[in-house]
Amino acid sequence: MARLARVFFPVTALGPGRRLGVWFQGCPIACPGCMSRDTWAADGGAEVPESWFAAAWAAALAGGATGLTVSGGEPTEQPSALLHLLRVVRSAPHPADGPADVLVYTGRELDEFAALVPGGPDLVDALITGPYRTAEPTTLVWRGSANQRLHLLSDLGRERYAGFVAHQPERPPMQVVVGDDDVHYVGVPRPGTLNHMERLLRTSGVDLGRPSWRP
Ligand code: SF4
Repeated sequence: MARLARVFFPVTALGPGRRLGVWFQGCPIACPGCMSRDTWAADGGAEVPESWFAAAWAAALAGGATGLTVSGGEPTEQPSALLHLLRVVRSAPHPADGPADVLVYTGRELDEFAALVPGGPDLVDALITGPYRTAEPTTLVWRGSANQRLHLLSDLGRERYAGFVAHQPERPPMQVVVGDDDVHYVGVPRPGTLNHMERLLRTSGVDLGRPSWRP
């Protein structure tokens, strides 16, 4: 079984192209300032059988997916489920316009990721490592703090991501996904963005309930 926080398609703000986004549930790292505190509890989210990944990826491919982004939560807390998902994507037929790439976020460092998910680095094209640190802001695309590194682990990763390692967009890519009873910010906001958005929404009369970035 895998315990997931959420799944969205298409995600366009975390990696290039149109992506299946899978957020794993559970994170013991507990970075101060984390925008996704709702993903921390190991018993939160919802369980799905690992066999569900194949159907989800097939549906994403049918919808034009060019890649997979795994985030969390902390994916290394569920190494078996993570490996299963990565193998599903690796073994699936390629989309017509080239192979799908895999981008994984982890709050661990590269050597820790390799130890916690044996064989994982061989199934990942691009890996963003390191915990979020509020005291080290960055304008690098897809990263929340300057300590976080984008590792290119395959030829496909080098081909598709080399131009993004030092890329600093004027505005970070973002999406807002509106569900039946919740709203999700998808992307990596710059410092102050979430507070600004919260103020704007509250002054517009929107009841935000308990935002995931608030303790
Ligand atoms: S930023 Fe990532 S690693 Fe840090 S607490 Fe949040 S989910 Fe965990």
